[in-house]
Amino acid sequence: VAKRAGKSSYRLFEPAMHAGVLARLELRTGLARAIDADELELHYQPVVRLSDGSTAGFEALMRWQHPERGLVSPADFIPIAEETGMIVPMGRWALHEAAAHLRALDGDYRMNVNLSAKQLQDPGLVEDVRAAIAGLDPSRFVLELTESMVMDDADHAVDQLTALKALGIKLALDDFGTGHSSLGYLSRLPVDILKLDRAFLAGDEPNLIAAVVSLGHALSLEVVAEGIEEDEQWHALRALGCQYGQGFLFSKPLTAADSLAAVAWSLCSERMPSELLVCHLG
Ligand code: C2E
Ligand code: MG
Ligand code: MG
Ligand code: MG
Repeated sequence: VAKRAGKSSYRLFEPAMHAGVLARLELRTGLARAIDADELELHYQPVVRLSDGSTAGFEALMRWQHPERGLVSPADFIPIAEETGMIVPMGRWALHEAAAHLRALDGDYRMNVNLSAKQLQDPGLVEDVRAAIAGLDPSRFVLELTESMVMDDADHAVDQLTALKALGIKLALDDFGTGHSSLGYLSRLPVDILKLDRAFLAGDEPNLIAAVVSLGHALSLEVVAEGIEEDEQWHALRALGCQYGQGFLFSKPLTAADSLAAVAWSLCSERMPSELLVCHLG
């Protein structure tokens, strides 16, 4: 590119780009110490039953509490962590952290954890997962993967996924309908759950959504719609028979403490007569 740009190759050193490169470098070195410095956190977004909005489980979403920059979003640091390979220890940390949180939650919830391509290629993954979920009912633990993660080496990926399934955990195909979706992969992968990318909802194409929900059901998959922000979307999806959803309409990702409080509160309101609740609220 620089060659073709000829004399205008000075563009490469425009201040804005320079700042961008510096910022990435800085994030890169920062990430290397983030785990040990205790700067990573998981936030937990409820996955709800669309029938009544009750919480069926949570998706663990990584956050980086940077000492100077504050909360950094995964869109900014996950790609860097993947480039450097740091995602493998970070992902291992997330597996253990999310499983510990699942043990701390009072109730029969599920916990979803996102996996990266590098982790799927890591020969230690199955042992990491086995260690993380020790003592838990494995069917309450869900790993989320995307089709693009599988495409580089589909045979190896399918072997890894089969070994993970043998632990008794569930697998979800995340962001379905974006990028390189292919029905061929969908039938080859031993997944249990299909997560419809939120672009489907944003695209406002009811026929397409209906088709994908019935595709999932035809393959005996549970279907989760991502990115529900409006009542109308909830009601339309429920009418289509989509069982689960996730989105800001129900809840943003919560800190660990807030997710515990939300669960305690819902247990409390189920068990107590409403007059008592009023009392407790003062
Ligand atoms: P994802 O796995 O598809 O996660 C869903 C993303 O959508 C989350 O963004 C969530 O906050 C956001 N979201 C949920 N409901 C709504 C909504 O109603 N509207 C909108 N606009 N957004 C909504 P987040 O937390 O920024 O994570 C972005 C992506 O980063 C994730 O997409 C996932 O691919 C990746 N990621 C997050 N945590 C981890 C992790 O622990 N490991 C790996 N490998 N990737 C992670
Ligand atoms: Mg996900
Ligand atoms: Mg997703
Ligand atoms: Mg995603």
